[in-house]
Amino acid sequence: MTSVQDAKASPSPGSSAPSGGPGAGGGADEVVLEAIGLTKHFPVRRKLRDLFTRTHNAVHAVDDVNLTLRRGRVVALVGESGSGKSTVARLLAQLYPRTGGDIRLHGASTRVKGGRAFRAYASRVQMIFQDPFASLNPIHTIRYHLTRALRIHHNDGGDLDAALADLLTRVSLTPPERYLDKFPHELSGGQRQRVAIARALGARPEALLADEPVSMLDVSIRLGVLNLLRDLKERLNLAILYITHDIASARYFADETLVMYAGRMVEGGDSETVTQTPAHPYTRLLIDSAPDPDRLTGDVDPLEEDRGNGEPPSLIHPPTGCRFHPRCPAAMPRCSTDLPVRVEIGDRPGHWAACWLYDNAEVAK
Ligand code: SF4
Repeated sequence: MTSVQDAKASPSPGSSAPSGGPGAGGGADEVVLEAIGLTKHFPVRRKLRDLFTRTHNAVHAVDDVNLTLRRGRVVALVGESGSGKSTVARLLAQLYPRTGGDIRLHGASTRVKGGRAFRAYASRVQMIFQDPFASLNPIHTIRYHLTRALRIHHNDGGDLDAALADLLTRVSLTPPERYLDKFPHELSGGQRQRVAIARALGARPEALLADEPVSMLDVSIRLGVLNLLRDLKERLNLAILYITHDIASARYFADETLVMYAGRMVEGGDSETVTQTPAHPYTRLLIDSAPDPDRLTGDVDPLEEDRGNGEPPSLIHPPTGCRFHPRCPAAMPRCSTDLPVRVEIGDRPGHWAACWLYDNAEVAK
């Protein structure tokens, strides 16, 4: 395993250490961060009766997740609440220790627990949280939050006022002096989220992990924040993980879309393909769940009425085989016993699904 400092000092071939600002220095499509077989099981507190047995239950929050973040590209991780997508973000941010698998920063395996190693990692991989009000300290001004971010990660003695103005300008909070001495409660939700993004940029990261960054904002300002993130991705060559339950926004914002159900990846590919020609029955359910005027007129496909019945499964005792089988209208006998493997779908490179419907042996029957 290589430390974060080592990884920083020895970038992978074709890469270079960041300099001169966030995300600067690397080539387009360069791999920044990878999850390989990432797994997280949370132990469940044992009940009194379990003390006399060997029962050790765990929540299987994330199992065998693979994803790759590249410079200048957005990967959307889509799924309903409880699917494990936020846990993936926290694992990649090293806020949780992983149970299994690996996290590689520029190809180097990393595992940090706190202190200087964590700060070094966080200066390259920053997280943006869902609730901008909760992520900002209400008793401190915007100046304090941004100054702290700059000092923690890059105490290089430069012109602080110029750096603060630059951060606020990057997130379109101008003129900067209008915002610097305000408290979080004096800003709108969208402005607070822009401050949270500016604070993340203060670390000059290469990767941003955005956990539902617009879901708590008014619908009217969501697009502005997504456009800001897309603009930053292009100008600063950032790698972005965009976590959302809204698959329509993934099509708009992300280059690649991965779909997660009950802790496992079930489909992936370029966003246009996954959202326009979804292969996995769960992805189709997510798309069908979007508001549709036909449902209000009663003009509904009866097959679709079957889709999505039931609740997400318990992750303490997840279903065997395909975890979606209790809800899947296309389930076959093997679905409840055999874990589906990834299968390439159609003629679009990189489009895959983990579903027995696309297994040749099954299709041939
Ligand atoms: Fe449905 Fe079976 Fe495919 Fe799972 S593997 S999504 S249960 S058809």
